[in-house]
Amino acid sequence: MAKILVLGGSFAGLTAALDLKRKLKDKADITVISKTKNFVFIPSLIWVPFGWRKPEDISFEIKPMLEDRGINFIHAEATKIIPEKNQVETTAGTYNYDFLLIATGPDLNFSEVEGLGPHNGYTTSICTVDHALHAGKKWDEFIKEPGPIVIGATQKASCFGAAYEYVFNIEYAARKAGIRDKVSITFVTAEPFLGNFGIGGVGNSQKMTEFFFKKLGIRGITNVAIEKITEDKIYLSNGEVLPYKYAMIIPPFLGVKAIRDSGIGNEAGFIPVDDTYKHINYDNIYAAGVAVAIKYPEPTPIPIGVPKTGYMSEVMARVAADNIASRVLETNHAKKLKFEDIAPLCVMDTGNMGVLFIASRVFKPRKYHILFPGPWSHWVKVWFEKYYLWKMRNGYSQLP
Ligand SMILES: Cc1cc2nc3c(=O)[nH]c(=O)nc-3n(C[C@H](O)[C@H](O)[C@H](O)COP(=O)(O)OP(=O)(O)OC[C@H]3O[C@@H](n4cnc5c(N)ncnc54)[C@H](O)[C@@H]3O)c2cc1C
Repeated sequence: MAKILVLGGSFAGLTAALDLKRKLKDKADITVISKTKNFVFIPSLIWVPFGWRKPEDISFEIKPMLEDRGINFIHAEATKIIPEKNQVETTAGTYNYDFLLIATGPDLNFSEVEGLGPHNGYTTSICTVDHALHAGKKWDEFIKEPGPIVIGATQKASCFGAAYEYVFNIEYAARKAGIRDKVSITFVTAEPFLGNFGIGGVGNSQKMTEFFFKKLGIRGITNVAIEKITEDKIYLSNGEVLPYKYAMIIPPFLGVKAIRDSGIGNEAGFIPVDDTYKHINYDNIYAAGVAVAIKYPEPTPIPIGVPKTGYMSEVMARVAADNIASRVLETNHAKKLKFEDIAPLCVMDTGNMGVLFIASRVFKPRKYHILFPGPWSHWVKVWFEKYYLWKMRNGYSQLP
């Protein structure tokens, strides 16, 4: 029986493990090892600071869901991958594999900028449940004594969509709290233009973002690196110094420490894969989701990364799982899908509005792209959150 280890219990890891089980049934012994014991619907973390979601509304425990479906679950952190021995060392012991699928997502690189918080720094983040709760505590303090707000993403960041969603949501939250006239809102980004999103923009995303920023009184500063952050000031590479009372800045992502320590990733710790999502150097190691190495196709004045969204992570996981399953079943058809040919589908929430966008490819040139702005996009995101949690809680990874 083939031994398959999946590292990571989120969008990519759970999708892959469930797909593998469905395809291989009792022909494989599948184990998911995850550092976190809950699945969290990360896209809804933007609402946690304002009390619009509680962590328990957007998460569930992984172990019972997987074990009910015959998949083993180990709550542990992988610390080292030893490809020569087909072994993974974890905080709960050493595990062997015939096939390994790495879906460990990112480590957050707060050390990129001096003073970048929340750990050993001053700004907030919304990238994890704990960060979002901390950002909420700071928000509650802020509305009692408002001042300038700065939201943004650093150089080398890739998750720009979350920063945009947060700036629009905070603008809406400030209106709801009755303090909008007392606060200025500035958006700071390394992107060469507003609405670039790390994918060169989609359709008229630049014009649309500029239009909404103007309408809502949000100042956008593009093409800048953040050099330093102090308790009340953000220093930019263009010489500007922004005073702030509340700031949320998305950090750059790195591959996780276990990959960086194992020497199987690129210089940032992401896994280099071919179009089947197999490691370019190891025949029985696959990767999916944020753990995969992707380069921004055209260099930008300030370096930026490419977003690997939840949807893209799932697509990659399906291809990787399909290819592992075909090797176990010896049907040996290699399914190929270039990352740039994934058709992105995303809803960007703006508080009480939103934009749904669909495109034929991640990068230009694209055959089609559609952007639907409107209040209903907000409700699409609310509905999708509930649908996705239901789908994963019930192990229906085969559903869209
Ligand atoms: C604030 C925010 C908002 C977002 N909004 C959207 C959105 O609206 N739409 C969208 O499509 N995408 C959105 N994204 C992106 C989306 O969250 C990611 O694409 C998705 O989480 C990637 O899934 P993943 O499985 O690759 O990695 P992750 O979700 O990061 O999961 C990694 C998993 O690996 C585990 N792990 C990590 N290290 C180890 C280790 N050493 N050993 C064992 N396990 C480990 C973790 O515990 C976790 O279970 C958002 C991201 C953020 C931060």
